[in-house]
Amino acid sequence: MNDPVLKLAGVTKSYKANTPGEIRVLRGVDLDLAAGEVVALVAPSGAGKSTLLHIAGLLDTPDAGEIHIAGQNLTGKSDRRRTGVRRRDVGFVYQFHHLLPEFNALENIVLPQLANGVSGAKATARAQELLARVDLGDRAGHRPAALSGGEQQRVAFCRALANAPGVLLADEPTGNLDPGTSDQVFGALMALARDTGLSALVATHNLELAARMDRVVRLQDGVLVSG
Ligand code: ADP
Repeated sequence: MNDPVLKLAGVTKSYKANTPGEIRVLRGVDLDLAAGEVVALVAPSGAGKSTLLHIAGLLDTPDAGEIHIAGQNLTGKSDRRRTGVRRRDVGFVYQFHHLLPEFNALENIVLPQLANGVSGAKATARAQELLARVDLGDRAGHRPAALSGGEQQRVAFCRALANAPGVLLADEPTGNLDPGTSDQVFGALMALARDTGLSALVATHNLELAARMDRVVRLQDGVLVSG
C-alpha cells in the first residue's frame, strides 16, 4: 500500500490551565489518511478538533508524537522546513472564509500561487479552472462581500487547493451555513476531492455530512476512535 498522505502517531498536547495542573487535550492521537480519502473528524466543541488540525497542518507543534506528510517525517524539523511543506502540501479551510476583502475571487486564488513562485498566467488559468469546478466561473470578478456565504466558502476551497496540496484540513467548513447551503458546499468539496484525488480531514458537528464521507473518526478523551 502507498504511504498515507498524512500520518499522526502518538500525538499529545496539553495546555496550561489557570488552576494548578494542565488540560490534556490530545493523549495519543493516531491517524493514517490515505491518498484520496475523505475522513470526518467528529467531536463535541472543546474536545480538541482545532488543536488536532493545527498540529496536523504544522501550524502548531505537539508535546510528543510524530507527524508525517507526503511521506516525510516532520517531527522536530526546522520551522523553515515545516513552513515549506505546509505551503506546498497542506490546504486549510475554516468556518469563516478568511478571503481577502479587497481582492476578487480570482485574485484570492491567484495570490497564494504567486507566493509559491507560479507565474501569473499559470496561476490565473488554475484559478479559473478551480472556480469553474465549483460552478463559480461567472463570479471570478466578484469581491467576497458580493458573494453569498456558500459562494464565499466555495472560493475558500479553491484558494486552499490553489497550490494543489495533497491534504486538505477543514475546520467546520459548513458550520456557518444554513442546512441547504451547507449541503451544496459540502457537495462541492466532495466533488473537488473526487476530481483531484485530494485527501481531506474534515471536522464537523453535522453527523449527516459525516456519514457521507469515506470514514468517520471521533475524538474522544484525547484519542481517535473509529465510527
Ligand atoms: P474544538 O476545536 O474541538 O472546539 P479546541 O482544540 O479549540 O477544541 O480546544 C480544546 C481545549 O483546549 C479547550 O478546552 C480549549 O479551551 C483548550 N485550548 C485550546 N487552545 C488553547 C490555548 N492556546 N491555550 C490554552 N488552552 C487552549
